[in-house]
Amino acid sequence: MLFKELNITAPLINALDDLGYKECTPIQEKAFPVVMSGNDMVGVAQTGTGKTFAYLLPILRQMKFSKDPHPKPRVLIVQPTRELVIQVAEEINKLTKYMNLHVGAIYGGANINKQKDLVYNGLDILVSTPGRLVDMTSTGILRLNNVHQFVLDEVDEMLNSGFRHQITNILEMLPKKRQNIMFSATLNRDVANLIEVYFNSPERVEIARHGTPLENISQSAYMVPNYYTKVNLLKNLLHNSDELTKVVVFVARKRWADRLYDFLLEEFDEEEIDVLHSNKSQNYRIQAIQKFEQGEYRILIATDVIARGIDVDDITHVISFDTPDYPENYIHRIGRTGRAEKKGKSIALVSKIETEYLEDIEEMMQYEVPKIDIPRDVEISEQLLEAEKENTNQQNYIGNLKDREGRGDAFHEKKAKNQKENLGGPGRRKPKKTRPINRAAQRKRSQKSKK
Ligand code: ADP
Ligand code: MG
Repeated sequence: MLFKELNITAPLINALDDLGYKECTPIQEKAFPVVMSGNDMVGVAQTGTGKTFAYLLPILRQMKFSKDPHPKPRVLIVQPTRELVIQVAEEINKLTKYMNLHVGAIYGGANINKQKDLVYNGLDILVSTPGRLVDMTSTGILRLNNVHQFVLDEVDEMLNSGFRHQITNILEMLPKKRQNIMFSATLNRDVANLIEVYFNSPERVEIARHGTPLENISQSAYMVPNYYTKVNLLKNLLHNSDELTKVVVFVARKRWADRLYDFLLEEFDEEEIDVLHSNKSQNYRIQAIQKFEQGEYRILIATDVIARGIDVDDITHVISFDTPDYPENYIHRIGRTGRAEKKGKSIALVSKIETEYLEDIEEMMQYEVPKIDIPRDVEISEQLLEAEKENTNQQNYIGNLKDREGRGDAFHEKKAKNQKENLGGPGRRKPKKTRPINRAAQRKRSQKSKK
């Protein structure tokens, strides 16, 4: 379906023309009439399917110029990261090129006074991270009583990042009469709970089965014995600079991102690689993404927390240096490539102790990732990390022991169960696991059971 076939007005059509966009993506086509109807909506679609315009177009279509010289926001859009706030605000500015609307972006880690001025001067649409939004409302400078459309974007990521409290706080502050619009790449139990409590019989708009990988991403995995062999393998892969022209290497933790960066500098040029995580300043992060987008750096090492802020076209490869213990994170990592109908490759480096995580991911996607052999010229290292030496069965080198105690136990239980199953005869299906969605929920649950 073409954009001009949607019930949208000339200013939006012209802005879309300027952007060179003609045809809607499926989620954009499906969500448009639902948002226009004024009913609550829950949209589920994988990353890179065009969810941003799916809510922006119908919202902007309905917006009227405000005569109030200092309008209070009528549309509130909440995003999990600063990068996404900035990006969505930019998209709104592009789409409203021929409209007279004020858009503001507020987020942590930047001068709050400037943002206060922005709010004070008046806004039609406000885009924010949950934390800064709560801070601004508590000072009284920002009032949400005019908001009649509320968008929670990437809500699964917000809940994974521990923003539940801020989100419920915001929901409680909003006027009763409003339209709730939610977008998520995955629907998990936490998301479902939020919908149940705060949404009013929402209409669900879904594209493809939840958790299925994008079809234009080809996935593969290497089973690697230990950390140092992974480093050797990664270096080997990255040397293929003809094919790997724009690569994101994901690592779970900041400390490990920096460490890996140092290892790669042993063989690669500083001009080729950058590293990005939440300890870096806001300016640094924005510049790093820009430089990567413009091709100044070929390789970007990044942590999961900022994964969704990376909306860069033409990423050829996403390499998971470690295997995420939350399958959703894997989906978001690989969603950085294969965007907007382009082909992309995902390569996972899976150590022995991470095979369980890969199984969880495969179960969620209902897809078995093809395994490839480690190239012969990659040296298999015998060197072990302290954690790998101490107890390779229980400990994961990427985590500290405390953080992962729960997982460690589950791993053992499952091993014992598998043995039993093997004795019990073939053909028995693996029982479906119920797994805590995030650590906060996990903690809460264990506190409850102690009571
Ligand atoms: P999601 O939120 O689903 O991950 P985005 O809304 O960020 O995806 O869109 C992914 C990319 O596709 C962006 O670069 C966006 O500009 C582009 N895009 C969105 N809609 C269209 C369209 N109809 N035609 C072409 N490109 C589009
Ligand atoms: Mg999005």
